[in-house]
Amino acid sequence: MSTRLGRPMTPAFAEHRARLLARLGRDEAVLVFGGPHHLRNGDSEYRYRPDSDVYWLTGWEDPEVAVFFRPGARPLTMFVQGRNPDREVYDGERPGPEGARDRFDADDAFEFSELERELPRLLQGVSRLHYAVARDAEHDALVMASIAIAARAARRNGLSSPETIHSLSVALHEVRFEKGEDEIALLRTAGRVSGAAHADVMAATRSGMTEYEIEAILVRRFLSEGSTGPGYVPIVAGGNNACTLHYKRNRDPLRDGDLLLVDAGCEIAYYTADITRTFPVGRRFTPAQRAVYEIVLAAQEAAIAKVVPGGTIVAAYDAATEILTEGLRSLGLLQGLSLPAAIASNAYRKWSLHDHSHWLGLDVHDVGAYGRDGEVRRFVPGVVLTIEPGLYFPATNLDTPEQLRGIGIRIEDDILVTDGAPEVLTASAPKAIADIEALR
Ligand code: CA
Repeated sequence: MSTRLGRPMTPAFAEHRARLLARLGRDEAVLVFGGPHHLRNGDSEYRYRPDSDVYWLTGWEDPEVAVFFRPGARPLTMFVQGRNPDREVYDGERPGPEGARDRFDADDAFEFSELERELPRLLQGVSRLHYAVARDAEHDALVMASIAIAARAARRNGLSSPETIHSLSVALHEVRFEKGEDEIALLRTAGRVSGAAHADVMAATRSGMTEYEIEAILVRRFLSEGSTGPGYVPIVAGGNNACTLHYKRNRDPLRDGDLLLVDAGCEIAYYTADITRTFPVGRRFTPAQRAVYEIVLAAQEAAIAKVVPGGTIVAAYDAATEILTEGLRSLGLLQGLSLPAAIASNAYRKWSLHDHSHWLGLDVHDVGAYGRDGEVRRFVPGVVLTIEPGLYFPATNLDTPEQLRGIGIRIEDDILVTDGAPEVLTASAPKAIADIEALR
């Protein structure tokens, strides 16, 4: 896989597995299944997007796959779609078990249908199994039956069999959370390409265009740069639609005098960016829009400054919240409350609506614990997260001042924790008012 810049864009899957091996004990194993392949409508299919765990471990991109991984001489066993000349006429060549061994470094590979026969044998000697229980009833039944067979064999041959099942969040997702250099490079590219798409949109948007035309501009940039596609359905929300946080209908016309909120990011080798920008459909922000924008931008920059080793998502949120709340008071809201009281009572949440951060990686809301034993996780170099404060004044909310109604503003960047200052991976998307108005 490569972009037109010619850089190698393949994640270092063998390094991922080495990192996971270092985390697992000799009697532990990880079992992951690919996600199901859904029909879109009738007999027409969605394009398959691999399960993030399967992909992170192996690079395998096709459905009907299971991966068994454990420390030892032959750590990686894959169960994959068998070759099928009739289906391959339609879907293209399948690697099959042979391809899994030759091209995906599997130590052993079987057809998926052989999992039921092979799993009891693989589970012997494993006492702690990492497996996402209760996600798929058929997989659960197969795994439980295999554990029962392995347990009967264990009584005869003295080998252990699974005594406990652990969520994938215990080991696999903690290793996925710590990004390697290969993954940081991919997230950096995803950020750069996605930011360029936002700049494209800022330059092209005109009153009278529709939200879907903006989506088309985004997707054109994503795909022409070698992206595997949007990391999530783009939100293109003109005017009051921005106050619907996960708006994705993207069908309305854009009107002069309104703002346009665009929340979109693309994947590079399935590693995604997540960017939001808000800018005027016309040439300039109105005074009210500008006032709100400056508050949200100042809040976002204060939060980004907190993304340093030893910092926390809570400290970043608190820094942004103080500025948002002070800003709401300057707009004439939250009157009669002191700043500490407006924060402590959560009164500001009426307009700020959501949290400001999540981890980022193969999943837009990426894996990794946010805290443990009541302690919030502290940032270390290599952590990647979003910072995305916003303020929203729905048109239907008649107790907010009239000039604010219909304004929804969110500003979101992707941040890498480094030894020094935070690295903004999405800096190619303009966000200073002067830079945005220069593009309009
Ligand atoms: Ca977002």
